[in-house]
Amino acid sequence: MTTHQPADLVLTGGRIATMDAVRSWASAVAVRDGRIVAVGPDTAVLAHVGPRTRVIQLRGRTLTPGFGDAHVHPVEAGRAMSLCDLHGAHGLDAYLGIVATYAHAHPAEPWIHGSGWSMDDFPGGIPSRHDLDRIVADRPVYLTSRDGHSGWANSRALEIAGIGRDTADPPDGRFDRGPDGIPSGGLQEGAMSTIDRLLPSPTEAMLEEGLRRAQAYLHSLGITTWQDAIVTAGPAIRSAPIVPGLEERTYMTLAGRGELTAKVVGAMWWERSWGLGDVDALVQRREQTSVGRYRATSVKLMMDGVLENFTGTLLDPYLDASGRPGSNRGISMIEPTLLEALLPRLDALGFQAHFHAIGDRAVRESLDAVAAARQSNGPSDTRPHISHIQVIHPDDIGRFRELGVVANAQPYWACHEDQMDQLTIPFLGPERAAWQYPFRSLLDAGAVLAMGSDWSVSTPDPMAEMEVAVNRIADYHRGERPPFYPDERIGLMDALAAFTMGTSYVNHQDRDTGSIEVGKAADLTVLDRDLFDRGAGAIGEARCIGTFVDGVSVFEDPALDG
Ligand SMILES: [Zn+2]
Repeated sequence: MTTHQPADLVLTGGRIATMDAVRSWASAVAVRDGRIVAVGPDTAVLAHVGPRTRVIQLRGRTLTPGFGDAHVHPVEAGRAMSLCDLHGAHGLDAYLGIVATYAHAHPAEPWIHGSGWSMDDFPGGIPSRHDLDRIVADRPVYLTSRDGHSGWANSRALEIAGIGRDTADPPDGRFDRGPDGIPSGGLQEGAMSTIDRLLPSPTEAMLEEGLRRAQAYLHSLGITTWQDAIVTAGPAIRSAPIVPGLEERTYMTLAGRGELTAKVVGAMWWERSWGLGDVDALVQRREQTSVGRYRATSVKLMMDGVLENFTGTLLDPYLDASGRPGSNRGISMIEPTLLEALLPRLDALGFQAHFHAIGDRAVRESLDAVAAARQSNGPSDTRPHISHIQVIHPDDIGRFRELGVVANAQPYWACHEDQMDQLTIPFLGPERAAWQYPFRSLLDAGAVLAMGSDWSVSTPDPMAEMEVAVNRIADYHRGERPPFYPDERIGLMDALAAFTMGTSYVNHQDRDTGSIEVGKAADLTVLDRDLFDRGAGAIGEARCIGTFVDGVSVFEDPALDG
């Protein structure tokens, strides 16, 4: 009856969430030459099994399309794993213990450099140089925060950088100071560059190792595609030929060797000092650096900072500590007039804009810039997206669909945790606080929702992120805290769609990935249970046990065949 060529791989007996247009279910899938050749009930698909076909019995476990991460920093995150790594630790004592251990283990390193502290471990979110001085006084110590928007330096680092009482704050940042006016060790936003530029630069080998580590880790979580949210320019951006930046060279090297197994879009960082004359260099970089599975087709536009240090931009001022409106509305990182000329230009050249926007003013300025592009160019398929979207004014919710802007959400942050409750809500006030992370409202208004982690800012585990999108309670606070504005909860199927079709859409890969359909690439993720059976435990407890890209296994747990 059948004239099929045998499949290379068949997965059968599962709960397969195909994520096709009607979100249909299947129980088996067959793969040949990296493509899906059959999806359906077991009886139909088993006809594709030949003598050399690998058959995996799913035994009721869930199979999904490979997950995507729409906003992640893998090169940096992989490298952070080998520096003084505070991620995963909590509290001043734990941080200082890690610094002491690291300093002892690396006696010859001129700088103690690392990242991963959290603002909620410090009074007012601001760390002190004196704490670090107690641990390391003779060498400079510099540690960036988990969200990357603040730095923590010891006295020696400030001294080497020439930062003292008379040092003025830069226009795009701030040195925290004691009552005596002397910088106290906290550096916010643009102020961080005074120390960043002194740090020894990583070697290419270190970055390649970082990306390999990051890729292996992301594959182990079921992730097969991502958008790298910052790839920076080489040192001589205006020269010809263009020199690719460090992250770009890392991707080019691994992709050229066939070691890049993930499908990656790079978002090229727009420097604050650039103008329209710098756009041509981006066109050259896109052509020159896109190799194998790496494509540099997006441009990252950092619109504001973050709310916790009052650099996120708001339409109305932040409240002060007594709950009254102050005068600060945050720092606009890109002038709206430049942006409204830049966006039409980028759009006409086929670039996707990837905005970072936290405050409601940053979101509105991003949408206005896309509106300017639509006005001058008409509709396009560049799929601009706004990451983070922490505070959205209700008047702007419908504009995402109207303008074809993808809402790129980091759902792991949509919960009550100390940073939110102590450093954010009091300074927004109750009305604006309720406008945070409005995922349900965006979906109801017809927006395309894509999701991602912003790793190393927070965990890249899509299961933990989906749990928070669905419950709006942190996975580490299950049963302990109330849901965060529960009207904005979304269903598990919608969260899964945002991590599959949504991320594929934002990466312009939706014709090829994001759903399990005949003809598409066999990018597949196997979970250790029926994800949709709530009797099987919390969503975030589900584990990936097998990941395939183009039908090739890139991660397997022994349980896959068990
Ligand atoms: Zn980011």
